[in-house]
Amino acid sequence: MTDQIAAIEIFLVDLSQQQPYLGALRDGEEIDPHGYFVRKQNGTVYPRKNRSLVLRLVTRDGVEGWGETYGIVAPRATAEIIKDLLTGFVIGSDPFDVQVIHDRLYDLMRVRGYNGGYYLDALAAIDIALWDIVGKITGKPIHKLLGGRLHERIHCYVSGLPCDTLSERCELACTWRDRGFDAVKFASPVADDGVVTEMRELRHALGPETRIACDLHWTQTTASAIELAQQIAPYQPWFIEAPLPSEDIDGLKQVATHSGQTVAVGEEWRTVFDARLRIDKQAVHIVQPEMGHTGITQFMRIGRYAEAHHLTIIPHATIGSGIFLAASLQASAALGNVVSHEFQHSLLEPFRHFTGDVLTYENGAYGITETPGIGVEPSCEMKQRMDRV
Ligand code: MG
Repeated sequence: MTDQIAAIEIFLVDLSQQQPYLGALRDGEEIDPHGYFVRKQNGTVYPRKNRSLVLRLVTRDGVEGWGETYGIVAPRATAEIIKDLLTGFVIGSDPFDVQVIHDRLYDLMRVRGYNGGYYLDALAAIDIALWDIVGKITGKPIHKLLGGRLHERIHCYVSGLPCDTLSERCELACTWRDRGFDAVKFASPVADDGVVTEMRELRHALGPETRIACDLHWTQTTASAIELAQQIAPYQPWFIEAPLPSEDIDGLKQVATHSGQTVAVGEEWRTVFDARLRIDKQAVHIVQPEMGHTGITQFMRIGRYAEAHHLTIIPHATIGSGIFLAASLQASAALGNVVSHEFQHSLLEPFRHFTGDVLTYENGAYGITETPGIGVEPSCEMKQRMDRV
């Protein structure tokens, strides 16, 4: 008889730092009694203290699998979905049925409209943990289970420059350039002097060789995105990310067609169906799957769909402990069209010991581990910051 899932445990991991994500609060941004604040420039809610949701599956034979999903906002909602609903359908299952399990769990809630958000985040965490178990039982890293490794290392770009002033942000970007990282991305909600000035000053500071991407955080209209793209064109942006609200697929196609810039989207997608709506319309040039939302199964489906359309893939990496990043690097290693990967230096550097310093990044690229499964698990330091929920 094959091994079966016997237990599920869920933890909240404290990833809090002195500064919130993207840097200090700006004028008019205040923390509410529940610990949240809204960035004025993009209207998006963030927590004062970063955190993520980590999952541990254990089989009857005692094999452990680790998964993780987005946990910065209302993480107990995701935990409750797993505890109240999904546990009963996962316990007793064969981890080698990982894709069947994913699809069955997806189908359970289709009629309720839960084809996004917290429900699919819960599925992502379970999916990563199941793949981790399959890797450990077979003694293979995930990229082997996905068909093999196509990259020795994976190029990465420095994401976010969480400093108070533009000159400090330029300085930080130059520090990373001098460490051998040849690509950075800045975030428009904290580009206090405006996107054009931010882009211009970063280009002047970094010189012509460094690639500079601009994350517009869904803030523009079709017309303003096209205009902005033309204004920053002299400073040679690498790509513009998430220019429009994600509902506006027709507008996105207009921006992709007429802005003259390379358009990257995908971080909020959960499934290949989200990808299909944009890819079929030729509304995207670079596809950015986010492992914390997709799990390995949907990440690969999005990646294969992008490859079938000859699109470039640059995976996104949001706030996490390193567990879903490890899964993302394993899956990315098996996708030939991956040309780079987000590097959340402000989290990975201070918290790299949380996953035992297994995740390496040198000279502008991530290493890829050959350890079975996703290749990482929580260290003693991380376990001290994990609370069972
Ligand atoms: Mg983004």
